[in-house]
Amino acid sequence: MLTCDILVVGAGPAGSSAALEAANSGANVLLIEKKKNIGVPVQCAEYIPKLLLNKIKISRKSLVQDVYGLKTYLLNDECRESRLPGCMLDRSVFDKELALCAEDAGATVYINTTCISNNKEKTLLNKDGRKTDVVSKIVIGCDGPKSTVGTWINSVNEEFVVGMQYSIPLVDPLDFTEVYFDYDFFGGYGWLFPKDTYANVGVGIKYASNFKTNKSLGVLLKQFVKTLEKDGKIKNKPTSTTSGLIPVGGPLQTVKENILLVGDAAGQTHPITGSGISQAVICGKIAGRISASAVRKEKIELLDEYEKEWRGIFGDELERARKKRRFLEENWNKLDMIIKKCWTTFQEYYYD
Ligand SMILES: Cc1cc2nc3c(=O)[nH]c(=O)nc-3n(C[C@H](O)[C@H](O)[C@H](O)COP(=O)(O)OP(=O)(O)OC[C@H]3O[C@@H](n4cnc5c(N)ncnc54)[C@H](O)[C@@H]3O)c2cc1C
Repeated sequence: MLTCDILVVGAGPAGSSAALEAANSGANVLLIEKKKNIGVPVQCAEYIPKLLLNKIKISRKSLVQDVYGLKTYLLNDECRESRLPGCMLDRSVFDKELALCAEDAGATVYINTTCISNNKEKTLLNKDGRKTDVVSKIVIGCDGPKSTVGTWINSVNEEFVVGMQYSIPLVDPLDFTEVYFDYDFFGGYGWLFPKDTYANVGVGIKYASNFKTNKSLGVLLKQFVKTLEKDGKIKNKPTSTTSGLIPVGGPLQTVKENILLVGDAAGQTHPITGSGISQAVICGKIAGRISASAVRKEKIELLDEYEKEWRGIFGDELERARKKRRFLEENWNKLDMIIKKCWTTFQEYYYD
């Protein structure tokens, strides 16, 4: 039987940030990750806004290139250029570096360890194929879109975009990320995010939607790649493929008794853009700090402060984005007319 103050489930950006902050605040932290290799496989387009670098300590190894902004391509080939300084990451390095920071701060990190179930006293883990109980005062669920911890407090994501992505060579280096709208990409979009001599090229569409399309996501991605190839941007030789789920239903209830949810597990991902790394890191830090304080002061009710604090930062925008997504999906057949109201780089997005 293991014991700790705070059990953090999942060593993605949310979990490692929560574990780092809690350990720095003096708590005894156990961070568990079901994968054997943290950060792999990468299931992400790997863009972060530059401002996030002020919140984390990572080396140049995690950063592949800078980008100046975003080009949004509309259906009539109109292109809007927006200045959005950012960085392209190597998530396989980034996630490992964040976990190492948590370990350096004093957190114990177990890989190849999956949480299975929980009752009020303890959590059952499968560590290296063996069942082990852990007794903790607090559990922070940072276990991604289909969170096991979320099921313990009946707080689970129900709406998803599914994304499929190739890594593919660029013809010339690019210093803007690019997003493409198309009637076929229901509830989502296509993207080309440059990574030095390669790019992450992907398509995301609403998962399990009843939208009538005969084309699978794989077919849509292949067609998108052909278009970009014709435009002279990429060479059509993918070197790897990845896919993943993005929760887009908006934030969930994130605190119940001694359990907190953070990042994708909490539905903190932006329902329109699908971006979630910043929220995962920032909300993870808040969860870690408040949990450590609750342990120190022996006041579990302090955990409610977590929900208040993160909603104070992200709540209004996530709520706006949730409503925009509903409007976008309901009016998809008029996409060319409504897109500016529904995409974050247009002023019209912020009018109502
Ligand atoms: C195709 C795609 C492209 C994206 N592109 C971007 C982008 O460019 N920029 C951006 O900001 N966001 C992007 N996102 C979203 C971003 O990847 C997530 O918001 C972010 O990873 C959330 O971090 P997290 O720590 O909450 O969850 P995750 O990164 O999903 O980490 C959760 C961790 O928990 C582990 N885990 C799961 N269950 C258990 C369990 N039972 N026990 C132990 N461990 C467990 C998992 O193995 C995983 O390591 C993209 C997502 C997808 C799918």
